[in-house]
Amino acid sequence: MERDNGSTQRLVVDPKHPNPSVIREAGAVLRQGGLVAFPTETVYGLGANALDPRAVTGIFRAKGRPGDNPLIVHIEGPEALANYVERIPPAVSKLAERFWPGPLTLVIENRNKFPAVVTGGLETVAVRVPGHPVALALIRAAGVPVAAPSANISGRPSPTTAGHVMDDLAGRIDLVLDGGPSGLGVESTVLDLTGRNPVILRPGGVTRRELEAVLGPVELDPSVDGQAPGGKPRSPGMKYTHYAPRAPLLLFEGCGKESMAARILAEAGRLAGEGRKVGILACEETAQIYAREGYPVVVAGRRSDPESVAAALYESLRRFDRMEVDVILAEGISEDGVGLAVMNRLRRAAGGNIIAGPS
Ligand code: AMP
Ligand code: MG
Repeated sequence: MERDNGSTQRLVVDPKHPNPSVIREAGAVLRQGGLVAFPTETVYGLGANALDPRAVTGIFRAKGRPGDNPLIVHIEGPEALANYVERIPPAVSKLAERFWPGPLTLVIENRNKFPAVVTGGLETVAVRVPGHPVALALIRAAGVPVAAPSANISGRPSPTTAGHVMDDLAGRIDLVLDGGPSGLGVESTVLDLTGRNPVILRPGGVTRRELEAVLGPVELDPSVDGQAPGGKPRSPGMKYTHYAPRAPLLLFEGCGKESMAARILAEAGRLAGEGRKVGILACEETAQIYAREGYPVVVAGRRSDPESVAAALYESLRRFDRMEVDVILAEGISEDGVGLAVMNRLRRAAGGNIIAGPS
């Protein structure tokens, strides 16, 4: 169903103590088959009733999302899993106790409880319990599990504010709950528990080290950085260019911050010489180096604090769209902790345009 721009309602909601009448209204929209965007502790999600194939199809239509890219099902607590899954692996209970509610998505077997449109036709399903009061209250009010990918047009940077959601989806969805900026700024970690060993399919808010403290050794799927030799990605979403601003992005990685700045300046000079408007994505520590030379710089956190970079990342990428640059040169950061998720998103935004440093 096409909607005009004005027909997406935006309701402000207190992020810590969500207003019950607003949540009731949003829950009813979901139960009736509508689409509701809402804040989570990672990014904004676009929710539909996961048990209603028609409602879920609406998510794919609104986002322009490829039908083989499965959705994450959001539930209100680990107990709810028993309603939908026959055999809950012991690892799920251990992980749920430590990380739920929180930014960890678990891939487990789906015994036909969730429709194929949710799972992309796979025999597995991805589930998580979100750690945001608005998200939890909404799922409870809806009384159904909520399938929700990020609330952006497919391929664009994920939304971390209700404004980002409106920029992409106004007129295409029923309602946006505006609870202010989402917390972490990058998506959940997707962990596959269906094989012999647990495998990270997408790095995210929970780090590999944190998972290993609970589970022992955890593998990183080779497709994570798009470098799997011809193999089929196990997380279908990872094969698409994603998280991308409108201008092409060139990512610089793998060297000390001074030599990185020197190489970025050299490339910026070359491109500017060709008459192109260059924007630079930098951390606080080095931003001045580029600003001094007159380049427009967007500052995304401090490289010494990868969480600050994660929180600023998507807003920074969207800012380049508003600045209308022709090309973006982006500083890489260390892959420690949540830095792995940041670098994964930047590599995908770069779509292979990566300049590796001296090893
Ligand atoms: P999004 O909700 O847009 O942030 O994307 C969800 C991510 O989870 C995508 O990368 C999906 O491919 C992945 N995912 C969802 N369900 C499954 C599943 N059953 N098996 C593997 N990956 C999944
Ligand atoms: Mg997404």
